[in-house]
Amino acid sequence: MKQEEIVAGIDLGGTFTKFGLVNRSGELLAFESIPTEKNLHYELFLKRLAGEIDKLKLSLGEYYILTGISIGAPTGSQHEGTIDNASNLNWPKKLPVARILKAIFNLPVIVVNDANAAAVGEMIFGVAGGKENFLVVTLGTGLGCGVVVDGKILLGTNGHAGELGHVRVVDNGRLCGCGRHGCLETYASATGIVRTVLEMTSGEKTGSLLDGIEKHSLTAKKITHAALQGDDIALSAFEFTGRILGTALADTVALLNPELIVLTGGLAKSGDLILNPTLKYLNQHLLSIYRDTVEVKLSEISTKKTAILGLAASIWFHLDNELNRVTV
Ligand SMILES: [Zn+2]
Repeated sequence: MKQEEIVAGIDLGGTFTKFGLVNRSGELLAFESIPTEKNLHYELFLKRLAGEIDKLKLSLGEYYILTGISIGAPTGSQHEGTIDNASNLNWPKKLPVARILKAIFNLPVIVVNDANAAAVGEMIFGVAGGKENFLVVTLGTGLGCGVVVDGKILLGTNGHAGELGHVRVVDNGRLCGCGRHGCLETYASATGIVRTVLEMTSGEKTGSLLDGIEKHSLTAKKITHAALQGDDIALSAFEFTGRILGTALADTVALLNPELIVLTGGLAKSGDLILNPTLKYLNQHLLSIYRDTVEVKLSEISTKKTAILGLAASIWFHLDNELNRVTV
């Protein structure tokens, strides 16, 4: 019987582990999610996860053959196949997840940093098709950045290149989760714009639709909603966020000379509200030699699928390129 090759993408999160099976055309054929059992020994959890992946594959029937697995985490090291110092998991400092899953499945397994996975996802299935120099900036809880230079993901010495979210943009600015002050992600992210609105609405009544919303219930989605209704505070918050992001991206262009910057993640769902001010300030601060050489686009992959499709794209890319290079 002729069989179709598929791969598994596993997104290991602090609360849930999501996984899906994807074919070469980028179709998500099956998807499942289980709680990440941080109190279970990590080897036992990975065994349980492997069982769930087997079950999901069986549900598709025998036509499909699993050829590779890719696992993503914010601190995944592609060089070592480990997840390092994941602050949201109670597991040891360096988890050898690739080695363990390889032993269970007897298939190629890679570990990918989630921003890099998003970049490969855009290259293989998204708006960066055919591009060799681009950035994918994920605007979620934090700000992640996957960098592709001359057709290859930029990894750096330890596989941690592209930490644009922790480039400091404001002296003595907002306190960041990394312990320092003024990092880009404290301004330009879904949580950053919430902090901006809270600063703007603190104290006196401003007449904004966002006045008096409890700190913990304010979201980027609510700010988007208010901006679409013409709320001044919400619109100023987008302008401020776009100014900080666009200015930082102008500096990044000077370093990497990309032809495209893709914005993705929760805050990118606000569409033109974030795209327009980002473009305005990017162009305003761009060195003249880069004028009209760099486009900024919003991702067209639904945020729900970004992680799994990006992980699947990464393992397809690995199977077609890196593996061949090693064996030739
Ligand atoms: Zn930081």
